[in-house]
Formats: sequence, C-alpha cells, structure tokens
Amino acid sequence: MKKNLAAGVLIAALLMLNSCSADKAVDSTANVSGDKKSSGSVFAMDTYMTITAYGNNGKKGIEAAQKEITRLEKLWSVTDENSEIYAINHSSGAEVPVSAETEELLKFAIDMHGKTNGALDITLYPVLRAWGFTTGEYRVPDDGEISELLERKGADKITVDNGKVSVPEKTEIDLGAIAKGCAGDAAARALKEQGVTSALLDLGGNIQTIGDAKPDGTKWKVGIRDPFGDGSIGTLTVGECAVITSGGYERFFEQDGVIYKHILDPETGRPAESGLASVTIIGSEGRMCDALSTSLYVMGLDDACAYWRDNGDFDMILVTDDGGVYVTDGIAERFASNSEDVTVVER
Ligand code: ADP
Ligand code: MG
Repeated sequence: MKKNLAAGVLIAALLMLNSCSADKAVDSTANVSGDKKSSGSVFAMDTYMTITAYGNNGKKGIEAAQKEITRLEKLWSVTDENSEIYAINHSSGAEVPVSAETEELLKFAIDMHGKTNGALDITLYPVLRAWGFTTGEYRVPDDGEISELLERKGADKITVDNGKVSVPEKTEIDLGAIAKGCAGDAAARALKEQGVTSALLDLGGNIQTIGDAKPDGTKWKVGIRDPFGDGSIGTLTVGECAVITSGGYERFFEQDGVIYKHILDPETGRPAESGLASVTIIGSEGRMCDALSTSLYVMGLDDACAYWRDNGDFDMILVTDDGGVYVTDGIAERFASNSEDVTVVER
C-alpha cells in the first residue's frame, strides 16, 4: 500500500511537470504548515525543468536559478549560433576563446573520458547526427558511414588551456550527457546564494535537492522511473544530493522491428547494447552523476559495478534489460522497491 502511494506521488509530479508550460512562471503559495512554497518552470536544454523552493526567499531564488540555467544553455547549446560550443564546432580547427564555465566543464569531460575508459565521449556529435538523434529525422547509417564518422571522435583530441579551446577540424562537441547535471549544480548554487535552504529541482528527470529535508522535517522522496513503463520501480529517500537517471527510453526510434536508443557506445558508434535499461546515480554533484549515468549505462552491469567499487563516492540503481534491479549497499536501506527482483551490490 505504502509503495503504491509513493508511485502515485511520482506520477502526480510528472503530470504537474507536463502541464507547467508557462515559461519562467514563478508562483508562490503558503502551504498548510505555514511554510511558504514557490515553484517555477523553464524550458531549457530540450526539457521542462521545475524548481520548488520553500521559505520566504523561494521566489527570488527560483528567478536567479532560471536565469543561471538560461545563461548556461546559451553557452552550451549545439544549435544556437551564438553559443561557445557552436563556435568550437565551426572553428575549422582554430582556437576559440571560452568562458571559465565552459573551460571547466570541458576539462571535466576530458578527464571523465579517460576515467571511464572512453565510455563518456562528448565528441560523438557527427555520429549522433548521422542517426538523426539531433534532429528527430531518424535513420540507420551503414557500417562504412559509421566507421568514417568515428574517426572524428575522441575527447582526448580536445585542447583546453587558459580560456582557449581547439579541436581537430572535423571534431564536434555535444554536451548532452553532462550539461543538465552541471546546470543543476549552478541552479542550486544560485538558489543558495538567495538564501534558499530547502528546494527540489527537477531538470527533466534529473533530481537535485537543497537541504537535508523539507521545512516540515520530512526527507525528500524521489521516484525512480520504470524504464519499461510509466510507473516507478521504487522510491528513494534522500537528503541533499543529486539523483540522475539515464535510460534508453528517453529518446529512441524503431525501424524494421529494431529499437535504436540515443546513448551510443563510442566504440561502435551504435546504440549501446550493454544489457542495462536504466542507470540512476546518486551523489553530491549533479555534473558527476550525469556523466556517470551515461557512461555506466554504456559499460553494462559488471563494468559499472567494478567502476563503483574502484571509484566509491556515489551510489547507484541499475535496471537490467530483463528487469533485474541492482542497488548499491550505501542506499539499499533507503530504497523502497516495487520489484521483488532486487540485488544489493556490495563493495
Ligand atoms: P538525457 O539527456 O536523456 O537525460 P543522458 O544524460 O544519458 O540522458 O545523455 C544522453 C545524451 O548524451 C544523448 O542524447 C547524446 O546527446 C549524448 N551522448 C550519447 N551517447 C554518449 C556517450 N557515450 N558519451 C557522451 N555523450 C553521449
Ligand atoms: Mg548523463
């Protein structure tokens, strides 16, 4: 009974999200306990983002967070001709001056490319475009086309130094795997700067919280989406953290009975077929959780568990293609699963 209730909360939250199309609208209401609650939504980075903040500074905080998200989108969009990423992708190999934020994020992405053994690679844009994942005009490229495009990839080919970035002539960057998590960190900082001590940020399914609990003392409850349906596989109770999920269900197409999903294996240039249906990462930094949700999805169950054992400092919930749920021991007690098939992963 309790579990069904939790799933109901999640579905209600998703419905609310869909109906919140008012761009940058912020409204404030007082809830029953007298704690002021404000919420606002913004469409950015290809997704609806909703922020709920408690306390008197909520409205001001949300406005600052929305401004920050919009500012970062302008720097990192692949399609906006005025963005820094667009400038890099159209630089024909020349050096491009970038902001401190972009420099830092690119350095992080290059570092994570190495640490994940290439599973996270922000230079797959030409391959993603060939599949139509960038436009929605989907097609299946042939092997020759893919191998030719793969020659352009390699995050290790990006040079970042002293506010300047250069990439080889045909290499193109796409920050889709990490931008939302990083924007969440920046939005959380903006909220805190305005004095907000309790808030929930939902950036298109990326959840980030501020404060260990809501003002009434209850912990945050985050529903983990079922990759095979509209419901949830369970509910996680958390304090201040990021809970970020990657799944093939986010964007895919079907051709001749085969489903092609938007997370690519950089090794093959084809949708990752790792046996995982979704990967949720729980940790303190949105940027890191976002990077890991994408790359551990590419790695598959065994390598993801090995990565977790070697790198610590985060927890995860993995769902396999056959419906198995794997939860690391740091959060196992805080995860109320709707599934019978749960395995606790230990160090
Ligand atoms: P979502 O954006 O759907 O929440 P992710 O964070 O997993 O999901 O990011 C997926 C996006 O990252 C893709 O849409 C694509 O733009 C890009 N991408 C796909 N495969 C990779 C990869 N192996 N490494 C880095 N970026 C990738
Ligand atoms: Mg990601």
